[in-house]
Amino acid sequence: MRSKAVPFDATSSAPRGAMPRAAYVHVPFCRRRCGYCAFTVLAAHDAWIPRYLAAVERELADLGAPREVDTLYFGGGTPSHLPRDAMRRLAEATTDRFPLAENGEWTVEANPADVTRDWCRTVRERGVTRISLGVQSFSPRKLRVLERDHDARRIDESLRLLFDAGLDVAIDLIFGVPGESVEEWDGDLRRAVAASPHHLSTYGLTFERGARFWGRRARGDITPESEDSEAELFERAIDVLTSAGFEHYEVSNFARPGHRCIHNETYWLGRSYHGVGPGAAAYVDGRRMMNHQGVLAYIRRVERGESPVVDWEMLDAESRARERLVFGLRRLEGVARGAFQTRTGHSIDDLAGSAVERFVSLGLLEDDGSIVRLTRRGLMVSDAMWPDLLRPEVAAPREPARSNRAENAP
Ligand code: SF4
Repeated sequence: MRSKAVPFDATSSAPRGAMPRAAYVHVPFCRRRCGYCAFTVLAAHDAWIPRYLAAVERELADLGAPREVDTLYFGGGTPSHLPRDAMRRLAEATTDRFPLAENGEWTVEANPADVTRDWCRTVRERGVTRISLGVQSFSPRKLRVLERDHDARRIDESLRLLFDAGLDVAIDLIFGVPGESVEEWDGDLRRAVAASPHHLSTYGLTFERGARFWGRRARGDITPESEDSEAELFERAIDVLTSAGFEHYEVSNFARPGHRCIHNETYWLGRSYHGVGPGAAAYVDGRRMMNHQGVLAYIRRVERGESPVVDWEMLDAESRARERLVFGLRRLEGVARGAFQTRTGHSIDDLAGSAVERFVSLGLLEDDGSIVRLTRRGLMVSDAMWPDLLRPEVAAPREPARSNRAENAP
């Protein structure tokens, strides 16, 4: 069931099952918009920050009594772009509503250009434990193509400050930037390993509607790399990072032992979560909700006393089970048949037995009778496999085209 602009009382949607133990807050401000970005972002419009803060405070207050969570995640946009007072205010409003459990994980996304000693102190004092640093590349050429506003020297400086502050550090790298060679990507991987972060994510560059790169590609001004060369770069990342001691635990994610992103595991394990701010998604008691993606529209709706939720759907048990299967297969541990059936009430064979069988015969999945998991070959094409598992099958699927374009967390 899907509905648009449904008046929604979040308090009355209190789940029948366990309450979410994770909360995401979207911070939509950036200094300027990068060429490849199609996220919910307001670039160079900082005058809206006070009204955004007031709207988020109101949305949080409308969610009812405080409830403890195990993970908090401030994503964006660029949360580190907020002035110090705004950051303190947002942190306070969030933890008033979602107090963080002892030893909880609190991630804040940051741009290397914003990280100073003072900023590290500010977030540390509020209880932040982990910073996701938008490095993207150490290569001056790639950073220029991506239209990022930092350089490699700034990255090194920000990493030093974050480590000095005792924060866990996760970094993001993008591959498949037009003109990228294996040697250039090797340079990124070498620098990343030498930096010794706790966690590393690698994403293939995407060309999405709404991003400047979308129009540039249509005009022939910029040309995506071929799927084969992207796959080569992705394989290179897996080899280099796992050899360096990182655990490859999800299609796009690598972690030092004990440093997986617990918040993102919430999504991959099909657990429920809260979402606050423009464009934020929430998943509570089988209901998936999406706030208005327009930043100004989100603010105005909340100011008028309306719900920011503009789209929601109630997933039935079978859809939930199918999603759980797909998210679970993104994790390299795979999906255990017995545990899956206990949790969802559905067996993998009933839901997608023939698709699984075909993918096994194509060498994309392996199935030892108790666990189903992606093979190395399946990792290269995983995004193209999911549709066949999400819907009841009607025709024999062809071998998926190559793609490793991971979706960002909500
Ligand atoms: S890619 Fe990140 S930093 Fe660049 S505009 Fe988008 S949200 Fe902002």
